[in-house]
Amino acid sequence: MLKHVVKMRPEDNVAIAVHDLHIGDKITGDIVANAEIPQAHKIALTNLTKGQPVLRYGVILGYAKEDIHAGDWINETSLELPPSPDLSKLTYGENIKKDLPKPDRTTFMGYEVPGNQYSGTRNILGIQTTVQCVVGVLKVAVDQIKAELLPKYPNVDDVVVVSHAYGCGVAIDAPEAKFPIREIKNIMKNPNFGGQLMVIGLGCEKLTPNRIMEAEDINDDNLLFLQNFKGFEKMILAIRQMAEKKLAILNTHTRTEQPLSKLSVGFQCGGSDAFSGVTGNPAAGYASDLLVAAGGTAMFSEVTEVRDGVNFIAQRIPDQPNCNKLVKEMSWYDNYLAKGGVDRSANPTPGNRKGGLSTIVEKSMGSIAKSGTAPISQVVSAGEIPTKRGLIFNATPAGDFTCGPMQLASGMGLEVFVTGRGTPYNLEAAPVIKVCTRTDLKEFWQDLIDVNAGKIATGELSVKELGTELFNFIVDVASGEKPAAERLKLFNDIVIFNPAPMT
Ligand code: CA
Repeated sequence: MLKHVVKMRPEDNVAIAVHDLHIGDKITGDIVANAEIPQAHKIALTNLTKGQPVLRYGVILGYAKEDIHAGDWINETSLELPPSPDLSKLTYGENIKKDLPKPDRTTFMGYEVPGNQYSGTRNILGIQTTVQCVVGVLKVAVDQIKAELLPKYPNVDDVVVVSHAYGCGVAIDAPEAKFPIREIKNIMKNPNFGGQLMVIGLGCEKLTPNRIMEAEDINDDNLLFLQNFKGFEKMILAIRQMAEKKLAILNTHTRTEQPLSKLSVGFQCGGSDAFSGVTGNPAAGYASDLLVAAGGTAMFSEVTEVRDGVNFIAQRIPDQPNCNKLVKEMSWYDNYLAKGGVDRSANPTPGNRKGGLSTIVEKSMGSIAKSGTAPISQVVSAGEIPTKRGLIFNATPAGDFTCGPMQLASGMGLEVFVTGRGTPYNLEAAPVIKVCTRTDLKEFWQDLIDVNAGKIATGELSVKELGTELFNFIVDVASGEKPAAERLKLFNDIVIFNPAPMT
């Protein structure tokens, strides 16, 4: 018989409903549901008096606002939030796991990029922009390039414009301008762009090429300004000519066997529910451990979603400098939110709450599960390129289409995206594998979801089995297999994070 509820740790006093529970349903032992409890929501396993802690993952999600009886429904209205972990009291190195699971596969079929620490999973012509003003002209040119030129270069997968709202009307020397500038600069170094640079500027923008290109790359082969061309037709011709030269080079690139140490995979979640931390994220975490054991790089991110479990992250950092960096990144974000007049109560989102996530603590514990158990080899700022392999904490915002492009800037060849509520999110420059947390969602969105981790909740598969299946799919997608959203060409905009002032 399939299970009614999932309990994470022996000390937990709540469990998650595997399916909708009705009044009178026998749950476990003498416990009977006292309310209509939606799927993924929490049911009390013991009586609790007002002020007592509610435990899931062995962690305090919050304190009971009123007396609670065994069998009651517990949701966001039932709990008082505990304080956030104190950043000045973090301790590191207390949970360093050495015995990671052993992967069967250690290579993938990818594109080697000379001078790049990572190999590509796709062979794409990326066209970077210095300012939004050029995007209209560029889109016309790219439509022509895709229709008329791309078919002549069959080894090239696609032509992708990295457009953004940055470049002009911005405080270019503001301290926080380093975020968008670093991100725009590093995205072009993504291995899926094959080491080719093509940058289109206007001619009067503040984001000048020297801010995003190396001095030796600033030349007519890689860069043009629309204001230098006499009229629209000449602009289009110049863009086409530059693109054709780049396409001819990219067309000589072919897939060869690459060690997994040259693969970087971003892990993210969005539209999370209470199953995320039980099924999808632990499976992603197992796959992440396999990738790290194979010498590869796994990045996890989303500062606001891990902030309330930051002490668990710190314990997996072996050294003081990276722990200090973690504190610095978290403090920056605390201040950023405070300056904006918001706090952590903006999370969980309405969709998360509907999905049974009652507090940011509960969401954090689920989110961190996707980082597996490996030690954290490096903490990097948003959009920075890691210098180490292994598990990386990449301190980006949590919004899906902000986090994803930042992971692109940090070198990911593909992304694993775990969703509970469902989102069609995808990126044009790197394939996104969609993992759902519930079997109902897989059945509802059969054609949008790649991997169903809901089988873990029902007891059909273990975290290890599902995580191994996901790891194998990661290697297949890195080698060219297309996940659902790539087949359907669902491409979100690249949204560049800009915390600096606009002028
Ligand atoms: Ca996210």
